[in-house]
Amino acid sequence: MSPVHSAPTDGRAGARSRELFAAAQRTIPGGVNSPVRAYKSVGGDPPFVRRANGPYVWTEDDAQLIDYVGTWGPAILGHAHPEVVEAVARAARDGLSFGAPTRGEVEIAERICEMVPSMRGGMVRLCNSGTEATMSALRVARGFTGREKIVKTDGAYHGHADMLLVAAGSGAATLGIPGSAGVPKNVVVDTLLVPWNDIDAMAELIARQGHEIAAVIIEPVVGNMGCVPPRPGYLERLRELTAAAGIVLVFDEVMTGFRLSRGGAQERYGVTPDMTTLGKIVGGGMPVGAYGGRRDIMQCVAPLGPVYQAGTLSGNPVAVAAGLTTLALLDRDPPYAELERRTAKLCDGLGALAARHGLPWSGTRVGSMLTGFFQTGEVWNYDDAKRSDTAMFGAYFREMLARGVYLAPSQFEAGFLSIAHDDEVIEQTLAAADGAMAAVAAAR
Ligand SMILES: *Cc1c(COP(=O)(O)O)cnc(C)c1O
Repeated sequence: MSPVHSAPTDGRAGARSRELFAAAQRTIPGGVNSPVRAYKSVGGDPPFVRRANGPYVWTEDDAQLIDYVGTWGPAILGHAHPEVVEAVARAARDGLSFGAPTRGEVEIAERICEMVPSMRGGMVRLCNSGTEATMSALRVARGFTGREKIVKTDGAYHGHADMLLVAAGSGAATLGIPGSAGVPKNVVVDTLLVPWNDIDAMAELIARQGHEIAAVIIEPVVGNMGCVPPRPGYLERLRELTAAAGIVLVFDEVMTGFRLSRGGAQERYGVTPDMTTLGKIVGGGMPVGAYGGRRDIMQCVAPLGPVYQAGTLSGNPVAVAAGLTTLALLDRDPPYAELERRTAKLCDGLGALAARHGLPWSGTRVGSMLTGFFQTGEVWNYDDAKRSDTAMFGAYFREMLARGVYLAPSQFEAGFLSIAHDDEVIEQTLAAADGAMAAVAAAR
């Protein structure tokens, strides 16, 4: 294991990254192709990444950083896993895209339907992103039920489709954007909102309007306002309520799928939704999304049924090779118990350090997802999460970056471990956090 070296010392991007970011801002809005990558809420310029391997990324300024972003979730095997890279190279040599059916699509569909409980005996359709998956799943749910309203929870993020950009988490939360400009009022009038983890609010809404509701979509473990697990019994009760009202329950497992267990959050909690959306890990670092579930519902999808959804590059052979190899490796050697142990060690260690340095800290963790909220209260929903001291998070973030640890640049994001984050990497991270927290405490 090579030691961390030549970190960018002051928590800022190095000279080459700053130069590239200046150039990027001239031709790309904000210099980034997805808003979460900008450093608006933590200050400074983002380091530009040149390459990544295992638990590390290397910047254009040659800083080696321990990575807890994991390309926002997909990198559960660590970066550039040799078997995944080899599968991609092999697929690429045979042609990048055909727009015709391929063997790989059958293999990945069979594997997904076997691994994800709600798709067993059901069907799955591949697309190119998590956004496409959630957007399409809700269209199918509307087509299936003949109803138009959908329900989402405050602070959850389901991609950037118009109807879902209401009280959305992730980058929208970080930038304090309640919805988005450019979304017509008429598109969001059918999106109903309830607080996360409030089963009474959900029950009341369903009692009042259940007959008009096509789908309830949730992140079964929310990752996009930081990691906020479901309260005990919440998922079970939601399952009963939606089943009784004929509402399609959609688990958005774009983040949690293949991360929290082989079968995602639904397997971990033993609650089976009607439909599931996937992304991130299912593409193994390439752009893949998927949605699927009950056979009677998925039979509505064209060309079998009347709900149209399509994609020129859907099921792309190179992307499928990355996803299929990733899923096969997770299946062959399930890393979940070991990931859980290491993540607990990191989360507990961070909590102990925060206590020692007298910093407010509320740690949440499920499987290999974790967040340290800078506050003393428990975090069970978006309002709770927003009580965090984001200025203090910003200071901590910069101190960690200065010590060679690359975190998501927002209090409202989860951190991710990969199987490449071994005990030594975690100990290096805790040593960095000790120094970072001491500096934050000294500056208070
Ligand atoms: C990342 C994410 C999405 C959006 O996926 P993209 O591939 O970025 O479009 C949707 N839902 C959840 C829960 C996510 O974490």
